[in-house]
Amino acid sequence: MEISSGQVIYAMSPDNPPVAQVENGATVCFETLDCFGGQITCPDQRLGGLDWDHINPATGPLYIEGARPGDVLKVEILDIALADHGVMTDAPNEGVIGAVLTQESTKIIPIQNGQAVFNERLFFPIQPVIGVIGTAPAAGAIPTGTPGAHGGNMDCKRIGVGATLYLPVAAEGALLAMGDLHAVMGDGEVVVCGVEIAGRVTVRVTALHDCPLPTPFLATEIAFMTISSGDTLESAAADATLRMRTLLIDQVGMEEHEAGMLLSVAGDVRVCQMVDPQVTCRMEVPMAVAAAYGYRLP
Ligand code: CA
Ligand code: CA
Repeated sequence: MEISSGQVIYAMSPDNPPVAQVENGATVCFETLDCFGGQITCPDQRLGGLDWDHINPATGPLYIEGARPGDVLKVEILDIALADHGVMTDAPNEGVIGAVLTQESTKIIPIQNGQAVFNERLFFPIQPVIGVIGTAPAAGAIPTGTPGAHGGNMDCKRIGVGATLYLPVAAEGALLAMGDLHAVMGDGEVVVCGVEIAGRVTVRVTALHDCPLPTPFLATEIAFMTISSGDTLESAAADATLRMRTLLIDQVGMEEHEAGMLLSVAGDVRVCQMVDPQVTCRMEVPMAVAAAYGYRLP
């Protein structure tokens, strides 16, 4: 099953008609546009010249059979294939640096031999990230540029190949959509973009009933993490920390004071992005902690 990048949404909502339907446990490929909807094709183009009604397209939504409100959708990221070039921009009043910029700039970044060619001096190994990935909320419509409890524009650089993302199911069928790939990005995403790029994402989607994980939740080979979005970095970081503490006590089986101390000694609070309508942080705990307590993720 493949969903083409011609089928996109700009807000996550239970009112979006599904563009495809699959059995629980199916493998699906999402073809995605870059966050500019493919509008930038040369370095002469500026953000101000874009059609802003077609920014942050997310491919989907996909209806997963058997996914019911209250479930958790397990999304195993099996593969991400990237286009042959990405785009970066910066502009006055955008992001952390925008206050000191007087002009916009656009940069085309070729992808060659598994590396993003930043300039003649710097090459970065690609580390593909899904910037926008989420399910429909129970009601209303959340723009694809906004992160939240449903996932969305989290811009978390750990959401890559080999990771498993757990998202809430609030609408029948979950209505999964994704887009906004980055070939590589840094924590913070300070000028409001990574290496923005089109591509194809292959995932396995499984609805889990009675799953107690605090979504959005992510597991990689080396760590598991709560992801929280909020008005400030402080509030997002605190929420991610508190939700991880609850997981360590209720699911992993740690004593409550040790759970807090563990987060202080081995947990890492990290900034995912600090430039979107809500900012996003994560609390990472080494997978070795789960192994020490015999805890297995669902
Ligand atoms: Ca983004
Ligand atoms: Ca982006």
